[in-house]
Amino acid sequence: MSFTRITVVGLGLIGSSVARAARARIEGVQVTGYDADPEVRATAREIGLCDEIADDADAAAREADLVVLCVPVGAMGRAAADLAPALPADAIVTDVGSCKASVVEALAAALPGHVIVPAHPVAGTEQSGPTAGFATLFNHRWCILTPPEGTDPVAVDRVAGFWRALGAEVETMAPDHHDRVLAVTSHLPHLIAYTIVGTASDLEEVTQSEVIKYSAGGFRDFTRIAASDPTMWRDVFLANREAVLDMLQRFSEDLALLQRAIRWGQGDALFDHFTQTRAIRRSIVEQGQDDARADFGRTHE
Ligand code: NAP
Repeated sequence: MSFTRITVVGLGLIGSSVARAARARIEGVQVTGYDADPEVRATAREIGLCDEIADDADAAAREADLVVLCVPVGAMGRAAADLAPALPADAIVTDVGSCKASVVEALAAALPGHVIVPAHPVAGTEQSGPTAGFATLFNHRWCILTPPEGTDPVAVDRVAGFWRALGAEVETMAPDHHDRVLAVTSHLPHLIAYTIVGTASDLEEVTQSEVIKYSAGGFRDFTRIAASDPTMWRDVFLANREAVLDMLQRFSEDLALLQRAIRWGQGDALFDHFTQTRAIRRSIVEQGQDDARADFGRTHE
């Protein structure tokens, strides 16, 4: 790991996890934190999140050799532009945004002349804020780098080394491809969860208390995803609009096929479909991307 002065901008779930992981796993590193929200800065100071908390973007940028932008994707351009005046010319910038094409464009516009190696650690929880993060969040999770064509390969290697030092496995992809992959593996599931939870809470013949009381039937697993940060997810859907709408179209067609199978009593079609989906769950567990225990490892005590 070749960076010694890391600045983390945006000290929420992901930023505070980056700060914690860097301090826990990288010897001799100096971590400076900055957040636009004074309350977040105060909490970060109180819990000793970083070696130093900067009170403005200039102070955050001045000494950095690596900047990690951990703000919502719609705020990336603004956050980068605020750092630009004081950022050393040889500092490298990376980010953690959940969609990449729009972020690549925003960062290039805000920081012309700087080396930018965009990244997306595919790891998170439904919680937000500086107290929600933890140092092991990136352990054995994938971090996808999406360097624009022509990015200095040495800088890409150095940023890959940084993410590996935090415990992640690193993969490289084109930004547009990343956005299509994540539209189906992350953005669409969030949209479906937001829809189901909204539908259940709008039903008139089933009371809210019944929805909550009997949620262990499956509903509660969607509520975890649907509790995710509203600002973050608003920005993701606006920024990755085309890919999400495309995947949503395919999802609607597949849903219509299942609807038809139920209507016409096509049990074999339903059985075959559910057999295929069960195999996908098994692959996720086999590849170490989820807990192998039943019911996500809930103890049922
Ligand atoms: P979060 O907990 O809400 O934290 C974001 C922080 O950034 C907030 O404290 C916010 O302050 C601050 N901020 C906003 N604009 C800023 C600016 N211009 N300059 C400095 N600070 C600013 O969000 P998060 O879940 O950590 O998500 C951060 C990024 O990680 C997003 O781009 C998201 O797409 C990506 N990501 C999230 C997950 C996940 O599971 N949550 C996983 C992978 C990647 P205010 O609250 O006052 O606006």
